[in-house]
Amino acid sequence: MEIKHEGIFKSAQEAIVFACNYSSQQYAMSAMGKILQRGAQGSGRGLVGLDGAGQAGMVFAELQRIDYWQIAVLVTGRLSRRERCDCRRSCCRGWRANPVFEEAVSQLADHIARVHPVVLPVRAFRVAVIKKYFGEKDIESPIDIAKDEGIGSKRTAERYVKLIRDFIKDLEKDGLTAFAERLDNIGMLVSRNA
Ligand SMILES: [Zn+2]
Repeated sequence: MEIKHEGIFKSAQEAIVFACNYSSQQYAMSAMGKILQRGAQGSGRGLVGLDGAGQAGMVFAELQRIDYWQIAVLVTGRLSRRERCDCRRSCCRGWRANPVFEEAVSQLADHIARVHPVVLPVRAFRVAVIKKYFGEKDIESPIDIAKDEGIGSKRTAERYVKLIRDFIKDLEKDGLTAFAERLDNIGMLVSRNA
């Protein structure tokens, strides 16, 4: 009789949430920072230490083997939008934007414009839609930006919002499927027929 691994995670989503919450975001930040520096063309082989960082490291090592844009979408939504700032300048509000989150959103905004079959409007608009998708509330609404930039009627702007959101949703869905398969292959998913 075949002995099946017990597994650790119930789903790919749970594995990502765990890995991103591991040790106060620092791990997720540096892992995602490395992936972003590598860019979409780099090697897919993960070099994240398997023993030292434990399970979070294994999750990120596996994650690096799926499509680059799927990783970007799966992890970006889990990163904190802000980090503490102790610069003590008079203009400082005590926090600053997380550069890893900003970089991921920025790369995604360019990627969508490059590959989407419909020509999508200005960058500031795309960035705002993506940030909102990932839960950022403290920004100008994409519809207002569309108005300022003369993109067209409110209805047109809303149609663009939907196109961008659907694009990200599809990457997310396909990414979770691909990642679940990888985790299952190495026995990290709890077996469904156990
Ligand atoms: Zn500061």
